[in-house]
Amino acid sequence: TLMQTTKQLHVGLIGDPVAHSFSPRFQQPAFDALGIPARYELWHTPARQLIERIRSLCEPDCLGANVTIPHKEAVLPLVDKIDPLAARIGAINTIVHRDDYLHGYNTDALGLLHALHEHGLGEVETYDGREHVSLRGHTAVLLGAGGAARAAAFALVDAGVEQLIILNRNLERARHLAADLLRSYDRPIFSLNDPSFLIPRASSIIINATSLGLHEDVSPLPVETLAQFDPDTFIYDMIYNPSQTYLLCQARLMGFNTANGLSMLLHQGAQAFTLWTNQPAPVEIMRKSLMMD
Ligand code: NDP
Repeated sequence: TLMQTTKQLHVGLIGDPVAHSFSPRFQQPAFDALGIPARYELWHTPARQLIERIRSLCEPDCLGANVTIPHKEAVLPLVDKIDPLAARIGAINTIVHRDDYLHGYNTDALGLLHALHEHGLGEVETYDGREHVSLRGHTAVLLGAGGAARAAAFALVDAGVEQLIILNRNLERARHLAADLLRSYDRPIFSLNDPSFLIPRASSIIINATSLGLHEDVSPLPVETLAQFDPDTFIYDMIYNPSQTYLLCQARLMGFNTANGLSMLLHQGAQAFTLWTNQPAPVEIMRKSLMMD
């Protein structure tokens, strides 16, 4: 097993830029805790070096990689096998070097589901030897239609939400995402410009997947007021830096349960760790390293 290996193994983050990433902060302590001799490295990769970088993941001492901005879509044709959820999303954030092949996954999607479960939403079911979070019975409102929103939307519908409503400043982008989802799933999925559009008061989850709130931006969100939702609605902001966005402050003042994106960051990383090592991730050690307890 990896724990018995004495040679130095490598795994890293492929992106441009990568220096700001929180990933080494909690991945390295996880490898160290399990006694796996792997180093989590920052692999700054401009687009022109992407093919060469992905090829280097086939070296015998490489476990794989995380992939971030701006390469999550560009790596799709560069791996040998793509997990079905990642294929539907159209983006890969984790590559695993296994049995001489490169396998692509999207753990942003899995990470969001595990984060929501940690915040008390949904049930964990085990099938195909893997744990899955089920959100059957929930109705979700998703703010945004960019890359992060795509992963969230497919994750939510894959987890069985009864209904998904996508709100975005650019209506065409929301409509396009809804149409992509409807090709894969037979579920009520709406965007703002659907004729049958209606935000249900009894929405159980609202997820902000827009970049609004970064850099203290207080432009209006694509939802007019939170007062229209039932008080037991859970409000999740994918942004974790700053830790309290304007949306989360408003929501908390109004008495809603809320959480920021640090839990998604943690769980996407834990899912990636498990895929690379075939071991349960030491989530509590990773959480402590992110200083979030
Ligand atoms: P994209 O650039 O792909 O999408 C940005 C989204 O924000 C679009 O929906 C865009 O709307 C919307 N938006 C931007 N500015 C405004 C504005 N002024 N008013 C209204 N809407 C606006 O970014 P990503 O999807 O990659 O990332 C989105 C956020 O998710 C980021 O803050 C990122 O940090 C976070 N994230 C967190 C993760 C985690 O693990 N917690 C993982 C991945 C991302 P429009 O289409 O109209 O332009």
